[in-house]
Amino acid sequence: MRPSILTLLSILLIPALACNTALARKPIRTLIVTGQNNHNWKVSHLVIKDILENSGLFSADIAVSPAEGEEMSDFTPDFASYRLVVVDYNGDSWPQETMTRFEQYARAGGGILIYHAADNSFPDWTEYNKICGLGGWGGRNEAAGPYAYWHNGELIRDFSPGSGGSHGRRHEYMLTARTSDHPVIKGLPNRWVHAPDELYDRMRGPAQINALLYTAWSDTITGGSGREEPLMFTVEYGKARIFHTMLGHCGPAYDDNPAMQCTGFQVTLLRGAEWAATGKVTQQIPKDFPTSTHITYRYDYKENK
Ligand code: ZN
Repeated sequence: MRPSILTLLSILLIPALACNTALARKPIRTLIVTGQNNHNWKVSHLVIKDILENSGLFSADIAVSPAEGEEMSDFTPDFASYRLVVVDYNGDSWPQETMTRFEQYARAGGGILIYHAADNSFPDWTEYNKICGLGGWGGRNEAAGPYAYWHNGELIRDFSPGSGGSHGRRHEYMLTARTSDHPVIKGLPNRWVHAPDELYDRMRGPAQINALLYTAWSDTITGGSGREEPLMFTVEYGKARIFHTMLGHCGPAYDDNPAMQCTGFQVTLLRGAEWAATGKVTQQIPKDFPTSTHITYRYDYKENK
């Protein structure tokens, strides 16, 4: 049977239309910095790259540092040529030139996404800790800045002494919004359940939190702090737009990675990434976002359309 004219037309036109849609928006150039971590960075950075690129909004390059203890002096990523830098790194100090470049990138208005254990890194680098807002472990204590937690309707900064950074056992938990008009979370549910993950608690740092987006209750029953902990927020630093998410502990494998396979993690990461890069969020609220009673997953790191 000969193909009809309509079939021929659709074969010719559909790819052309798809191509036009793709061209309508230039992907946001992103650099993911990785290479050392007490976490499974070999999986996490690929997952982040896929989440970003599968959305059609981003194109991501990877900067892999030398391994722990190896010569670092040639590790000098060109942050300035990217609109977004995702930090998935927790390890040896960067060379002075790289630290300076990163600070300049931030001050000049760069977009930065601090992901999970990146806020464990560099306990002695003052400017980096300002960029993260809150950090943990690495010997952090009251010298790092106050604890920060939500109590009686406000973010408390608590200067009492003690170590910074802890978490109980992994479990499902509820995220509660603490603002409704920030572009990252506008239109998302005020409460949604997150897949089993670590719940960082007793974090401390300079705490120049700009918009507190979501907190979660860290229950002592699960080994937590008994406080409502800030887990997702933006940070005030120069002209930078900084989105910090403490969610997303990486699992053992790409396809065995519940905290990162959670739709809530992925959607907030995508929205935070776009806001950090551009100051706006153009993404629609997806139909598969979790609710206050149901966790949802994107096992292949793509929206299920
Ligand atoms: Zn972790």
